[in-house]
Amino acid sequence: MKQQEIPYKIYLEEQEMPKEWYNVRADMQKKPAPLLNPETLQPMGAKDLEGVFCAELVKQELDDNTAFIQIPDRIRDFYMMYRPSPLIRAYCLEEKMQTPAKIYYKFEGNNTSGSHKLNSAIAQAYYAKEQGLKGVTTETGAGQWGTALSMACAYFELDCQVFMVKLSHEQKPFRREVMRTYGASVTPSPSLDTEIGRKILAEYPDTNGSLGCAISEAVEAAVKQDGYRYVLGSVLNQVLLHQSIIGLETKLALDKYDIHPDMIIGCSGGGSNLGGLISPFVGEKLRGEADYRIIAVEPASCPSFTKGVFAYDYCDTGMVTPLSKMYTLGSRFMPAASHAGGLRYHGMSSILSQLYADGMMEARAVGQREIFEAAEQFARCEGILPAPESSHAIKVALDEAQKCKETGEEKTILFGLTGTGYFDLMAYGKYHDHQLSDHVPTDAEIQAGLAGLPKV
Ligand SMILES: *Cc1c(COP(=O)(O)O)cnc(C)c1O
Repeated sequence: MKQQEIPYKIYLEEQEMPKEWYNVRADMQKKPAPLLNPETLQPMGAKDLEGVFCAELVKQELDDNTAFIQIPDRIRDFYMMYRPSPLIRAYCLEEKMQTPAKIYYKFEGNNTSGSHKLNSAIAQAYYAKEQGLKGVTTETGAGQWGTALSMACAYFELDCQVFMVKLSHEQKPFRREVMRTYGASVTPSPSLDTEIGRKILAEYPDTNGSLGCAISEAVEAAVKQDGYRYVLGSVLNQVLLHQSIIGLETKLALDKYDIHPDMIIGCSGGGSNLGGLISPFVGEKLRGEADYRIIAVEPASCPSFTKGVFAYDYCDTGMVTPLSKMYTLGSRFMPAASHAGGLRYHGMSSILSQLYADGMMEARAVGQREIFEAAEQFARCEGILPAPESSHAIKVALDEAQKCKETGEEKTILFGLTGTGYFDLMAYGKYHDHQLSDHVPTDAEIQAGLAGLPKV
């Protein structure tokens, strides 16, 4: 074992947990483009958004200038139950690989929901409660966001209505039961409860549902019930703001030992964990104080950054949401079935999209089989069973550590380990039984998705 000046786990004391979130937009010279009303194509102001979203969250969504936003005490109290999360030095992995690279990962799977999504869920539930609302509606695909939101709503005694993609509702009964344990109502989508659901079912009675369709149902349910608003677990600026707690804690922990990462790697679905992890580092980069290589990792089956275009698009398949300027494959793009459900999204955070367009970060697409291979290699050394989504970041971290082995460079690699894979064991099973496919969309499939972009 290596000499250990640096401990396996760098913990922060509770009182060291950041008291403010950091809003990276404040340091961006080119701000992310505003959300547009899909009918008038005009930028949407607070008034336009408050019918669907909570008022304080709308304020955060539109705030491009305030660098630090105080974390309310009641949110900090909840964070205290599972934060600060550990920053771990992957000594065993380094040893096993015989690499001179120094590898660190920030682990966000240390709570019942099993991922970083709880960091934003608790904030969104808090602001809904403060506004005096009765409850919130949302959609969930693989189930991580629905689980996190159920926990957050239970804490603040808010009603939580989750529209769960029908296929996941059947295939992931355990996630469903966790949500119900925390008091959420879980409706398989499409359902007969909404107009859009009834319409879709009339047209496609055998459909398994999709995330886009569940979003449309959740938005309709929020708008039609008094005292309800819709909440979303990724993509939006407010979600990246809440997730900045990940990066702020990481930076504090690294600073304690004077560690400077050469590269920061994260998986990217809608971009919230990666955006949160890199925010304070990108802030330094934007202000010219430091430099880091930043790498977003996405599935080859849903390559928004690496094969998409930077354009205005709908955030959902039902085309009811505002238009957002982002790297997108088109809201009609249907990613192939994959076991990293949290990364199967056609678009990307508009903050990360702007940073990518400005050359502030890189992106890489990786296949499904290679991420499970990386997951297994990681699990066998480090003990943690990673989520397939998180394993995208592991895969690229391993690749970079391998390069260091070949060149002899002692690079410091930091990556985000977003969650655990306990609910993904069916997928691990398929990997072991050699039943995983690796569908990469053809140019024709990509073109078909992009052909559906709105003309702005
Ligand atoms: C949802 C999810 C992701 C991807 O979402 P982002 O918004 O891109 O962070 C990654 N990992 C896990 C474990 C998730 O649940």
